Amino acid sequence: MPLLRTVDLRKDFGGLAAVDGVDFGLEAGTLHALVGPNGCGKSTLFNLISGALAPSGGRVFFDGDEITGLAPHDVARRGIGRKFQVPAVFDALSVARNLAVPAWARDGLAFWRAADTDAPMAALEQVGLAGKRDLPAAELSHGERQWLEIAMLLASRARLLLLDEPTAGMTVTETAATAELIGGLAAAGDVTVLVIEHDMAFLRDLGCPVTVMAKGRILRTGDYAAIRADAEVRELYFGRGR
Ligand code: ADP
Ligand code: MG
Repeated sequence: MPLLRTVDLRKDFGGLAAVDGVDFGLEAGTLHALVGPNGCGKSTLFNLISGALAPSGGRVFFDGDEITGLAPHDVARRGIGRKFQVPAVFDALSVARNLAVPAWARDGLAFWRAADTDAPMAALEQVGLAGKRDLPAAELSHGERQWLEIAMLLASRARLLLLDEPTAGMTVTETAATAELIGGLAAAGDVTVLVIEHDMAFLRDLGCPVTVMAKGRILRTGDYAAIRADAEVRELYFGRGR
């Protein structure tokens, strides 16, 4: 049974079918990339899965349960962590304190009483920020802020990470480090990652299956090399002659 499954998922905005009958599945512990031209419905699909938008039709299942139309906080509590393009970190708080925020939001006072503060530290280690735990988040680089937000999702015990263009605005070095980081998370086994990305070097480095969307629909799924070689995908996504 897949960890995530969408069935004939749809979202209409007025006359526009932004997501137009998407059947998508993701096995637990896998890493998967979602690509496609601007406006093809990638972020809307994330919004439908995470509960930020109610679907116009279709269903969403997570870990065997139907989650269609649940509120974002309910979806998050079930273990789906959504990362937006702009990192939502708290500048004035230390790196370590930032990690307490999602746990506090989830568990409230129970979190402060709990002896288990290992999860946040483990999450910082997973993203390579353990050495900066006492720095104010304001002092992190742009790339490090993105990684901190991924750590916040991990600390909130998300089992499925939805990452929307996590390398946006990153340097080449940071982008490569992010591919390694994300690959490591999935390889470690207990987290499943679906990442929207258009950076080709990043997709090649990830080495995971890629699903291509076009006009609200799934056009193709395959590995990076097959997708790069696909004539229809090249025409649509990479641009003719590139
Ligand atoms: P992508 O993330 O693939 O670039 P989006 O999912 O953001 O694309 O958008 C898909 C289409 O839906 C676009 O035409 C966009 O303008 C439209 N759209 C997205 N969100 C909304 C919204 N909240 N209201 C109206 N139209 C929207
Ligand atoms: Mg988008």
